[in-house]
Amino acid sequence: MPLIDNLLTLYKVDRQVRSLQSRVESAQLYLKVQTKLMTAIAVELSENELRLKQHKSNIAVAETETGSIDARVERLREDLNKAVNDKEYKALLAEVNTLKDQRKSFEDEMLIEMASVETLDTTLVEITAKIDERKKITKVAEKELDVRQDEIAEQLAELEKERATAASVIPADILEDFDEIADDYEGESMASIEIIDKKRKEYSCNSCSLHLPLESIVQLMANDDTIVKCGQCDRILFLGQASKEALAPSE
Ligand SMILES: [Zn+2]
Repeated sequence: MPLIDNLLTLYKVDRQVRSLQSRVESAQLYLKVQTKLMTAIAVELSENELRLKQHKSNIAVAETETGSIDARVERLREDLNKAVNDKEYKALLAEVNTLKDQRKSFEDEMLIEMASVETLDTTLVEITAKIDERKKITKVAEKELDVRQDEIAEQLAELEKERATAASVIPADILEDFDEIADDYEGESMASIEIIDKKRKEYSCNSCSLHLPLESIVQLMANDDTIVKCGQCDRILFLGQASKEALAPSE
């Protein structure tokens, strides 16, 4: 078989190998994204827990304060009963009223804190649901990766054997060049020649659209064993069957 046809065979199987590998790569990437999302939710959870703890401790402080105010008010009431004159009575009453005001502000604070706790509790439920959901997705992603790895293991071994066979008939220097271009373009190492206008002899690279000199086409038509590359994208050029037929002399 001419070199160009051997290269096309290699090109096809090389792309299959790469696309198979990319199937695992995308599953790996997907799993990685899940792990990242899970980490972000864990941060959200710990922040929420920290805030909850803070508000609950604020409530506890306010409770202690109102408790001690109650105790003081009780003692003051006992003193009120024992007050010996009006002046003492009024002074004690004024203190009781001040304490009642203080108690009221602690109560107000507690209400605000409790509302915050309620909101954070709701958020906690939401975060927990998100974690459960993400765990499920992660599990599926892990399984998917396992399946794909198993699946491609066999196919990949087969295709790699095919690829090795296809590569074995390509001269070493050309193979090296091919591999380099394939790595650069994720397997798209070859490009077909597009006939823009046969009469005006206009041709272009199907990959990068560069207008090709007529010389490239003449060279390819004349000799199947030469390598002609695109001057812009460096891909190895070939003529598809239809183009070959279109360009063949009619008589
Ligand atoms: Zn090109």
